[in-house]
Amino acid sequence: MSKIAFFCIPAHGHTNPTLAVVQELVRHGNEVWYYSYDSMKEKIESAGARFISCDKYDMQMQLSPADGVKISTDLAFATKVLVETTLAVGKGIEAQMRAWKPDCIVADSMAVWGKAIARKLGCPFVSSTTTFAFNKASAKTMKQSPKAIFQLLFSMGKINRDVKRLRENGYPIRNVLDIIQNDNETDTIVYTSPEFQPCAETFSEKYLFVGPSIREGDKMRKKVQDAGEGQKRTEEQAAGTQNRKARTGERKQVYISLGTVNNDKCGFYQNCIAALQDMPVDVVISVGEMLELEKLGWIPENIRVERYVNQIEVLQNTDVFLTHCGMNSVSEALYFQVPLVLFPQTAEQQSVAARVYELGAGVYLKETDAAAVRNAVAAVLEEPVYREKAGEIAESFYRCGGAEAAAEKIERAAKG
Ligand code: UDP
Repeated sequence: MSKIAFFCIPAHGHTNPTLAVVQELVRHGNEVWYYSYDSMKEKIESAGARFISCDKYDMQMQLSPADGVKISTDLAFATKVLVETTLAVGKGIEAQMRAWKPDCIVADSMAVWGKAIARKLGCPFVSSTTTFAFNKASAKTMKQSPKAIFQLLFSMGKINRDVKRLRENGYPIRNVLDIIQNDNETDTIVYTSPEFQPCAETFSEKYLFVGPSIREGDKMRKKVQDAGEGQKRTEEQAAGTQNRKARTGERKQVYISLGTVNNDKCGFYQNCIAALQDMPVDVVISVGEMLELEKLGWIPENIRVERYVNQIEVLQNTDVFLTHCGMNSVSEALYFQVPLVLFPQTAEQQSVAARVYELGAGVYLKETDAAAVRNAVAAVLEEPVYREKAGEIAESFYRCGGAEAAAEKIERAAKG
């Protein structure tokens, strides 16, 4: 039995994959404290952890959705936010942590304050990476524009000044890469398969690729693993195939979502509605919390617009998913063998889209007008190879150890 502290940023996409791991750790009798933000409290507590709010230590600047996007494009801005947050959270919780004496700290790769605090306390540390793992080799596969590189060089002075503030406050951090880069010496959990991760062979044996963490799905996965080596398919995945088979000859289902962060895109949804209203398909669109629904106008009968859906359930009846290519959405879709129309918005999402495209499980949405949406959706529905390729990636996910393997790695780190 160990004491384990988690740190995460206030994003569903980064929190969700950790929940099954927390459940598993708690089931094994470990004590888990989870430092996060009030918006995530409910789901963290229902996974069985003690939730500790970091809202009150929040960085001076409250992050707006626009800031969220800027963080992924502007390293100087990202560093400033990360340093501010590290100093504030560290100040708020250091005494508590020293008194509780965790055996292991697990932090999301973007909640860098977790890694910094672990270093300061000299505590074993495991990184939790909900995106692709990132090193020099995999970075090469992600395109950097000359403008972005110039901006980066230009802002290096500012970045170094910020990082120096960490050292002045007792954090043994040499440079910005020290905290933001995955390195080959750090125990790291990656929520994908080695087959889906670009350049997986360039990462050390410290990396464990556990496959996507599917909510409400892991118990099923475990049941199947217990049932024997040869059987890889989960009951749910089989159910998804079954549902789709039962509907063969019936209307196909299209699912559209731009995720939970950057989804206020009224014009885009209107184009999707115009594109699909006359097709013989049923459509579910998850539009998020920000959009003013009445602005969408008239909604035809074959289209259902929701603020939030149970995506795991919806995907099991979906024939094509038009996605912003968030790592979680893509992994969940591929897990259920759903082929994709790729509409990435950020650099990170572009790298996910590029990998799906490379492996043949989807097509890009090149323009956002109604005709382009209709053509891309029709292409994926008509050509079975996209579903077959999605199925191959799914098989690689089923071969991974899942939340249980992640929990065991953390327990080993905690025991030293
Ligand atoms: N999600 C959901 N219902 C919705 C929209 C999203 O359950 O209507 C979940 C989805 O299953 C995924 C997460 O929210 O687990 C979104 O994470 P992702 O990495 O795809 O994108 P982000 O929201 O971080 O941009």
